[in-house]
Amino acid sequence: MSNPQNPWDWHEYVGVAHIHSTDSDGSKSVPEIIKVGQELGLDFLLFADHMTLNSLHLGLEGWHEKIFALIGYEIHDLNNINHFLAFDVNEILPGGLTAEDYVKGIKKMGGLGIIAHPDETRDLPQFPPYPWTAWDAEGFDGIEIWNQMSEWMEGINRLNQLKMFLSPRRFLTSPTPRTIKIWDELNKQRKVCGISGVDVHAYPYKFGPFTFIIFPYKVQFQSLRMHLITKEPLSSDNQIAKRQVIDAIRECHLFISNYRRGDARGFLFYAESKNQFAGVGDSISSSDKISFFVRAPRRCKIRLLCDGNIVKEGKGKTLEYSTNHSGNYRVEAYRGKRGWIFSNHIRVFTSPPSSSLCRPV
Ligand SMILES: [Zn+2]
Ligand SMILES: [Zn+2]
Repeated sequence: MSNPQNPWDWHEYVGVAHIHSTDSDGSKSVPEIIKVGQELGLDFLLFADHMTLNSLHLGLEGWHEKIFALIGYEIHDLNNINHFLAFDVNEILPGGLTAEDYVKGIKKMGGLGIIAHPDETRDLPQFPPYPWTAWDAEGFDGIEIWNQMSEWMEGINRLNQLKMFLSPRRFLTSPTPRTIKIWDELNKQRKVCGISGVDVHAYPYKFGPFTFIIFPYKVQFQSLRMHLITKEPLSSDNQIAKRQVIDAIRECHLFISNYRRGDARGFLFYAESKNQFAGVGDSISSSDKISFFVRAPRRCKIRLLCDGNIVKEGKGKTLEYSTNHSGNYRVEAYRGKRGWIFSNHIRVFTSPPSSSLCRPV
């Protein structure tokens, strides 16, 4: 008999992923950015500068008082597309590889590899899109299902650019259905985690006589956030804590939120049956009837989806649903028409496999 854990004992850590510093084309140094994260009370930051691990080699990975810095890097191919975030690696792969080769290369080194901003389209000639085209690549661990910079860039045009610069977070709506669909499909084959990325650079940008900093770090860190769920508290030992953070991402023990729509800390999504318990990212057998529970910290529209289809939705702070159908279940929460919380999947499996798949209602 399994030993169901009390979900209330789990630990939640809130942070921000996909950060650029002065190591490549960002505008603050890693220690300065860590300070911004500390001021906002964040628990972790995931740095990914272009083709450099400079700050890792300077020894900046690890705890800085109460905030943990994980330092990876961002790879691109010869055409500057197929951007890929690599963590838990100590060396840079040579430039000029194909996406298939660097996805394989990072896996071979035991790293954690995540596809960045996969479906960018943009309308400004000075900022071309950097989409992912190498879907045949094998061995990536996750996808950025919501990239702040991509969504903002996709919404910008010659007429609205001043408004967009002055109030960048207001325009964030939701992950694109294209990316979410690909992510749900991939999860039918294997676990692929969905993360959020702010892709912060804090560039200066000229508009007529004015120069704006697009998305200062402090503004970006109050938008798309990752919430890691761990069964044990993060260790004070740098190496052990690093393992815990990497494992939580690889195992999909996380949900993402847009802080602009409300602090999502405390959101819960889990499933239980007579003698099993599954948190976000876990699997549970459909041999007994399964009950899903969702609890949001504020009133919102909550949707439970199975393999991309809505199986139940409602307004409020909680949602419950019982089933014995297999499939990959996840939650979306909205405030107004804007996306607020997107969880990773809980997998309901049959043993032996059957065709009893989830049914939309
Ligand atoms: Zn990129
Ligand atoms: Zn980037």
